[in-house]
Amino acid sequence: MDFQLTKEQKQYRREIIDFARKNLNDEEYFEKFSEDMWKKISDFGFLGLVIGEDYGGLGENYLTAAVALEALGYGCENNGFVFVVNNHIWVSQNLIYLYGQKEAKDKYLADMIEGKKIGAIAITEADSGSDALSMGTYAYEKDGNYLLNGSKMFISNGPIADVFIVFAVTQKEPVKSYTAFIVEKNFEGVYIGKDIEKMGLGACPTSEITFTNCIVPSENVIGRFNEGHIILTNALEWERCYEFAPHIGAMQRIMEKCIDYVNQRKQFGKPIKQYQAVSHKISDMKISIEMARLMLYKIAWLKDNKRSAYSEVSMFKVFVSENYIKTCRDALQIFGAYGYTKEYPIERELRDALSCSIYSGTNEMQRNTIFQILA
Ligand SMILES: Cc1cc2nc3c(=O)[nH]c(=O)nc-3n(C[C@H](O)[C@H](O)[C@H](O)COP(=O)(O)OP(=O)(O)OC[C@H]3O[C@@H](n4cnc5c(N)ncnc54)[C@H](O)[C@@H]3O)c2cc1C
Repeated sequence: MDFQLTKEQKQYRREIIDFARKNLNDEEYFEKFSEDMWKKISDFGFLGLVIGEDYGGLGENYLTAAVALEALGYGCENNGFVFVVNNHIWVSQNLIYLYGQKEAKDKYLADMIEGKKIGAIAITEADSGSDALSMGTYAYEKDGNYLLNGSKMFISNGPIADVFIVFAVTQKEPVKSYTAFIVEKNFEGVYIGKDIEKMGLGACPTSEITFTNCIVPSENVIGRFNEGHIILTNALEWERCYEFAPHIGAMQRIMEKCIDYVNQRKQFGKPIKQYQAVSHKISDMKISIEMARLMLYKIAWLKDNKRSAYSEVSMFKVFVSENYIKTCRDALQIFGAYGYTKEYPIERELRDALSCSIYSGTNEMQRNTIFQILA
């Protein structure tokens, strides 16, 4: 295999890091969404990364997208904002592009690429988390359209999104079946709840969404009617890969901060880097980054070659999330009491990281999937 990135990929990576450092690190927006930053990343063209040029995107391949997402996670210290961008690109806009009907692509894609419309995905409900297919949200055909009723929970981008990919039961028997719909926030019967306060990812607002006799036009069905489980599986495959790619960049950024700190912080008359208990933590960070990057490139290769990466993304998700959290915890330990204060960025990095073993399917569920495939 060729692990050499092209000149263009390296150049693009540098441009993204420079752009992110200059435009996306305003501390004022670490805990709240910034429309100004959203406009800047839209103008930079980043949102259309993998959308075909016919719809106004950049038409990049998935390896370039992997490099780009890692670079964004490295340059942008606002992990919540990166989460907003990823939810928009991978599990909303990308699903419309890959599986939507022509009318929907024509209607939504240009605005989403230009950032005029923000996307979100709505699977989870108050009583159905890991067991997503036990969802209660229901839709049935009425006068050529669909009538949607139900409620979704923990929807990232909820309070700021214009377009939601909503999963609903559309057949109860003989086989329970699901369908994915594009629902606009302005459709009648859509109610968006208040921002739910979380321990991290503050720049990404989250809410409940309720649908009461909401009429969804038939051209807003994504994929085939009653085959929404296929869209769901694909959505989670994209999410488990590309929403975790920036965490590799974040690990690299945190590791570099640790290296600076252990060089300048002295105890017992010498820099703390001279204590193996400290330096080995940084070696472990480097090992995680390298291993995660290899997995990411393999998945990108599978995607570029139109192959399934079903079990690979579960392994990647578990590996990255657990090592990202470990990296943040070790960084906190290295920074000592300073790291525990709000004066330093480490406590926020840890708070942001902790949720990644939960979202996108918990790590326990990923381990179930990996084992089911094996045995
Ligand atoms: C930051 C964040 C953002 C999110 N964004 C979105 C979003 O945009 N859209 C959306 O639809 N959802 C979103 N979610 C919801 C997320 O998908 C769910 O939290 C997740 O699927 C787990 O569901 P739950 O929280 O209800 O936990 P539960 O399913 O109640 O699980 C509780 C615990 O039991 C374990 N458990 C449950 N079943 C099993 C089993 N069979 N085997 C082993 N262990 C099991 C779980 O691993 C977990 O540890 C988000 C969540 C977070 C934290």
